[in-house]
Amino acid sequence: MARKRSKHDPYGDLQREEEDAPAAVVPCWLCGRPTGKTIVWHHPVPKSRGGRDVVPMHPICQQTLISNFTNSELQRHGMDVEGLLATPTIRKFVDWVANKDPDFTAPMVKKQR
Ligand SMILES: [Zn+2]
Repeated sequence: MARKRSKHDPYGDLQREEEDAPAAVVPCWLCGRPTGKTIVWHHPVPKSRGGRDVVPMHPICQQTLISNFTNSELQRHGMDVEGLLATPTIRKFVDWVANKDPDFTAPMVKKQR
């Protein structure tokens, strides 16, 4: 199942030329992985609480945040991502998502267990 990885593949080079936006990769605020095709601009301090700053995030990371914290808690943490990461649930999520593809998303409607 391993993906072929050939440095001398002419088609590989062609593909690389087509998607020429290497500088556009920004790390996710929460998990630190590079963002994928979809970047969510998240307000660490909720807009409804006067937050103006936005940070790049994976959709799944934002979903995890907003499903685990209330607006008040998010406001309290603000830009302090370390504080959020110190939360066991978030820590566990980040460790779990670390090996996923940047474009990985999962339906977070139901909590497992
Ligand atoms: Zn992320």
